[in-house]
Parts: sequence; structure tokens; C-alpha cells
Amino acid sequence: MPLERFSAAWREDYVTSATASEHATNEGECVFCGFAHEEVGESSGVLFRTDTSFVILNAFPYGSGHLLVLPRRHVATLQELRDDEYAEFFWTLRKTVVALESTYGPDGMNVGLNLGLAAGAGIPKHLHAHVLPRWSGDTNFMTSIGETRVLPESLASTWQKVHAHL
Ligand SMILES: [Zn+2]
Repeated sequence: MPLERFSAAWREDYVTSATASEHATNEGECVFCGFAHEEVGESSGVLFRTDTSFVILNAFPYGSGHLLVLPRRHVATLQELRDDEYAEFFWTLRKTVVALESTYGPDGMNVGLNLGLAAGAGIPKHLHAHVLPRWSGDTNFMTSIGETRVLPESLASTWQKVHAHL
């Protein structure tokens, strides 16, 4: 895959207010912290929660089953997580990967952390991992002239299917 296309796949469009969220300094200003306090449900987009971590739909998925795994606490880096939070974050990440395997049976999966603005994080102040099922021959998620883009399934459909495996 050409480098620019690989990078583009990790560009984040989570919310239109992402620019404001980039400058959020506390959880009251952070969109992810808003989700951290939501109950699991199709309307909230929250798929799974533990005491210190949670899983949500990416509102603007690059493909079907594009999820985000986050710590509930507003921290920007792995090193700010306590050991118990770190363990639960990666436990939840693994559980999410397994659930997506069971749900979609994809050919592969991207699992990624963008740490900091320069690495492409749209909301760099709240740590989050992308998990994205991939299929051989899929379109690298980017619309470009003359290229057909495969539209992902609806978010409601993703929530229902994946939630059944979590
Ligand atoms: Zn936050």
C-alpha cells in the first residue's frame, strides 16, 4: 500500500468538533469523556464497558466494524495509565479484536494507536485505539476520483452485530 494511503487510513474524523476537542484540557470539554459516562446501548454507540475502559463505534467508519477502544479516564498517553487501567485497556482491546473476528471473519485487522497530533490523532488528549476489520481487496477507506468506495454498513447494524459477540 502506498505510504500516503496508509497514513490517510488513520486520519481521524470522529466528530466535527474534533478541532475544539484537540484543545480540551479536562474531561468536561472532551467528547470521549462524554461517551465514557454513557450506558452501553445502540443509541449511545457504547458497545462494552469495564470499570476503567470502554468500546464505542467510530461515528465515521473507514469500513464496517470500525471501533475505538479507550480508557475511561482522560489521559493522553500509555504511561499515564495506572497498571490496572493499562491491563484492562489491552484486555478490552483483545476482547474487541476477538469479537470482530467472530462477527465479520475478516481477512485481517488494523489495530492502531495514534499518539499525539503529529501522529494523526484527531483527539490527542484522550487515548484511543482504532480497531478495523480488513478484507483482501478493500478500498483503503479513502474516496478519490475514479475510485469506487465501498460504503460501510450502518452504525446500528454494526452495534447490533458486534454487541452480540462482546
Ligand atoms: Zn477525555
